[in-house]
Amino acid sequence: MTSRPTPATSTSSDAPASAALLERATRVIPGGVNSPVRAFRAVGGTPRFVAEAKGPWLTDADGRRYVDLLCSWGPMILGHAHPDVLEAVRTAAARGFSFGTPSENEVLLAEEIVRRVEPLEQVRLVSSGTEATMSAVRLARGVTGRAVIVKFAGCYHGHVDALLAAAGSGVATLALPDSAGVPAEMTADTIVLPYNDVATLEATFAARGSEIAAVITEAAAGNMGVVPPAPGFNEALRRVTRIHGALLISDEVMTGFRCSPSGWYGLEGPYAGGAPDLFTFGKVMGGGFPAAAFGGTAKVMAHLAPTGPVYQAGTLSGNPVATAAGLATLKGCTDDLYPRLEATARTIADAASAALSAEGVAHTVQWAGSMFSVFFRDQPVTNYDEARDQDTTAYGRFFHSMLESGVHLPPSAFEAWFVSGAHDDEAVSQVVDALPAAARAAASGA
Ligand SMILES: *Cc1c(COP(=O)(O)O)cnc(C)c1O
Repeated sequence: MTSRPTPATSTSSDAPASAALLERATRVIPGGVNSPVRAFRAVGGTPRFVAEAKGPWLTDADGRRYVDLLCSWGPMILGHAHPDVLEAVRTAAARGFSFGTPSENEVLLAEEIVRRVEPLEQVRLVSSGTEATMSAVRLARGVTGRAVIVKFAGCYHGHVDALLAAAGSGVATLALPDSAGVPAEMTADTIVLPYNDVATLEATFAARGSEIAAVITEAAAGNMGVVPPAPGFNEALRRVTRIHGALLISDEVMTGFRCSPSGWYGLEGPYAGGAPDLFTFGKVMGGGFPAAAFGGTAKVMAHLAPTGPVYQAGTLSGNPVATAAGLATLKGCTDDLYPRLEATARTIADAASAALSAEGVAHTVQWAGSMFSVFFRDQPVTNYDEARDQDTTAYGRFFHSMLESGVHLPPSAFEAWFVSGAHDDEAVSQVVDALPAAARAAASGA
């Protein structure tokens, strides 16, 4: 074996089995992946094909083990293959996979969600966060008889045509302005405003308030990295929408049951001016399976088919296995889980910050519950323009050093880091031990 210089990014020789799978995948799947950010385009190198996951650990096709700080982009809040969830899935699967009829698990999961999130009276179950936001937007337009939707730059609400404008991480990572294939008319009724800017919101409503069906916002932004709403921002959204007869849609697909037992609303609500009209959920509530939801008061939800004129449907909606996984996961989201997640996240974030400071690397850590991001800039981030103004190449070097040391971070500087209830001392120590070398790598090209 001849020694070779440490590569700036890991190469296929570090992960031969993943590299071989990627080559095969690339022939039959565009870019070799089924969701673009998995391709490592933002950080370079070979994405790891994961063969197995247990607790806080991922094992790749080459048999290398990584501490998982991706947690499937949020859902795996209890860790991978949690015994209670596994048991629930086995039991449900043994009874059949999909019925195309109503079934009890749907009722149980809907009851659990409605019980946790105080303003909710009803939810409709769907299969992805994208479907949830798409349906919530349609419902808001149906209820108000108006067309215009206001969203915020850097907030991602899934790949809904009308919402793929300044849509954060995945799109930012690829440096696409928006997306090809979305005709201008699909976003003609979408107004994109800067996040955390109440004055611009008020001016927009003053000019066009009577046309606006809804404002959709991430309850706390997590898709441009973690950018929490400024104090009073969400309340201002509620106040302004109410004055003008528009609905407020709080997208809790990422934050729901992640930031607290009842999501971001549980941390920040209730609002003086009333609750959001509609909430969307996904990720944690599916426990790693395709289950998502949107909901609100019974009065608003009554506009949906079959009771109302707004059509919405799904062959696999409320799937009995997915709802069993979601229910078992929410059962595990007990009050004592959240302080543990926050303590674990705090230990990792503090160690990352100390290591980066020791190497003089500019950075800022931002939080929403136990979700956090390390931005590679020294000023706080309050909106998308600021999020984009960071040293993403330093993040790439940092990411690859962590990967070599057995820690799988999100492969983009515009993402939240996630921990689970399964991240134990061994996993946390492996992260902490990996950080000094990664901070040196981040500093090295500066
Ligand atoms: C992940 C996400 C979505 C999209 O959910 P999918 O299940 O990927 O379709 C929507 N909104 C937010 C806030 C998200 O984080």
